[in-house]
Amino acid sequence: MELERILFLTQALATHAVVGYALVRGFTGIDPRIGAIMGVVPDLDFCFPPEWSWPFVHRGITHTPLFALTVVLGVYAARQDRAVERAVGLAIGSHLVIDSLSPKGIDWLFPLRTAVSPELPVHGPVATVLLWAVSVGILLEDVRSIR
Ligand SMILES: [Zn+2]
Repeated sequence: MELERILFLTQALATHAVVGYALVRGFTGIDPRIGAIMGVVPDLDFCFPPEWSWPFVHRGITHTPLFALTVVLGVYAARQDRAVERAVGLAIGSHLVIDSLSPKGIDWLFPLRTAVSPELPVHGPVATVLLWAVSVGILLEDVRSIR
């Protein structure tokens, strides 16, 4: 994999983690590290073997509301804690929303292949700075509310 691609993926994954962390920290009482982890879970599809086909590809099944719902319900079944369930849903949901705005989009109506997108460069430098700035703003507001 070329260096430019590695840097792009690292920045995109970091952004999903930061946004998930900030949302969970700012809007739930749950350990925000859960938000950072769950914020990148949909991109585990990068681990799918290249010979697999749709929906087991990048931006396939792991980038669908059905997957998010399955994970949320699985976490709830394991933990029986609505707050954790909300935190997981918030983090994975933020990932889906961000990626759905990108040129590739996501299949909101999976299993139908209906990806429509405003084709925004959400993983480009400007959007990345904006997403990080909003995340830092959420974290600062959370710190301020604690005082
Ligand atoms: Zn993704």
